[in-house]
Amino acid sequence: MSYFLDGDRAITGTLLWYYAICKRQVWLMARSITPDEEDPRIDLGRAIHETSFDTETKEVGLEGVKFDVVVRGRKLVYEVKTSSSFIEAARLQLKYYLYRLRELGVEMEGRIKVPREHKTFRVTLEEGDIEMLEDVLREIREIVMMPRPPPPKKIRFCNRCGYRDFCWGTEG
Ligand code: SF4
Repeated sequence: MSYFLDGDRAITGTLLWYYAICKRQVWLMARSITPDEEDPRIDLGRAIHETSFDTETKEVGLEGVKFDVVVRGRKLVYEVKTSSSFIEAARLQLKYYLYRLRELGVEMEGRIKVPREHKTFRVTLEEGDIEMLEDVLREIREIVMMPRPPPPKKIRFCNRCGYRDFCWGTEG
């Protein structure tokens, strides 16, 4: 399975998360049109992530993806989220990390941690997931190659999206 967008630019895990939420966001992110980094909700996400693990956590970086692995006991890949509202998007992102590890011969399980809700979700690679991920990666490449972004569609994520002013101006 190819996880490259174009040339040697790898498809990031975040891009799969966006794919599950909004295809327009995939195009904007992949084209490096940066969202509003001053958004306090982005800071909150970083702060929660930075305070959610002990010192036995290691950040692992593969091409285009970075994730946390807790090394005590069983090795687990962690993804920390500020809420469980978009849990299916987080599952997709984590399955992509598990797939990338499997390609290297490393079988691991994933956990989505939502510290503010005291919730943890178990994620594994199931039968059919590889084919599903192949389809997702293919579609992401197709979206990014489009000359224009897909039109905006009002969804519940728009209110917390860094692109909301870009998509909706003051009406958003
Ligand atoms: S504001 Fe809404 S339509 Fe625009 S990129 Fe974000 S989620 Fe997509």
